[in-house]
Amino acid sequence: MIIETKSLRRVYGSTVALNGVDLCIEAGGIIGLLGPNGAGKTTLVEILEGLRMPSSGEVSVLGLDPARQGRALKERIGAQLQSTTIPIDLTPFEVLRLYASFYERSLPVDRVLQIVNLKAKANKLTRTLSGGQKQRLAIGMALIHEPELLIFDEPTSGLDPAARRQLHEILLDLKGQGRTILLTTHYIEEAEKLCDRVVMIRSGEVVADGSPFELVGRAGGKSTIWIDVEGDMDPAPLLVGGAEDQGRQGNHYKFTTADPAATIVALGEVLHTQGVSLTDLRMRRPTLEDVYLELMGDPEEDEGVPA
Ligand code: ATP
Repeated sequence: MIIETKSLRRVYGSTVALNGVDLCIEAGGIIGLLGPNGAGKTTLVEILEGLRMPSSGEVSVLGLDPARQGRALKERIGAQLQSTTIPIDLTPFEVLRLYASFYERSLPVDRVLQIVNLKAKANKLTRTLSGGQKQRLAIGMALIHEPELLIFDEPTSGLDPAARRQLHEILLDLKGQGRTILLTTHYIEEAEKLCDRVVMIRSGEVVADGSPFELVGRAGGKSTIWIDVEGDMDPAPLLVGGAEDQGRQGNHYKFTTADPAATIVALGEVLHTQGVSLTDLRMRRPTLEDVYLELMGDPEEDEGVPA
């Protein structure tokens, strides 16, 4: 087990940031930590990194206690924090060379520049880099010593879609090399795309844990189906398997259902027997975002819980 926590609790004065978190994470893949502002994600990752102390409970990262064996742990984990500061008067090459000097063992700087796609900017001052390039450098700083576990806290926050996608490709490449990445993010579609496992946290507690596919399936959410036809259609036979009619505008019909296949099969029959022709058919399956919003409820309520 690469990360294990038992009944992990962290209290700040009258605020409970973590309220008994039990986690078991095995090596390999990308594990996403999701939750609204104030849910406790940063507190959790910083406890795992040995930067904050738990109030009670147990933590083990790579078999070490982060609070007491922080030095040994630093050699084996790589972190990009929300608070990571990058020396702005150095070039990416110099920054990475400096970071390499902190460790007994490190990757060649050129190799890291290549992994994070910064070769073209290697000798420019980091103050001139874009937000996306700076985040890629922060990822490079985290992986310079080839750590067994990478922890990235909102690495794509504030990036434009192209820069975010570039970072996604780097994370997927790192995963392809067999690395383990713990990632916090507010972008649900990012978690759905990248993560093998998603842990959702609300008010300091784990409220869902599984692969995106499992979580969406377990939630039993409904698909939406839009149907456009030519001719006059009676939609009643389409209300099979619990499908619900969500209204119509002209020849444009909308249904929600937990069993979209049944509606599609019924549609074939309706087209045949009612003599109408299909001009368009669209379907939207439930997504991880639907599951997230259902579990997280009202965001106003979530700023830690009183002790
Ligand atoms: P975000 O998504 O905004 O980064 P988060 O999920 O990382 O939020 P945390 O930063 O861990 O959440 O905060 C959890 C709760 O603990 C919040 O209510 C926050 O106000 C509180 N908190 C965090 N750090 C401190 C601190 N140093 N002192 C007092 N309260 C804190």
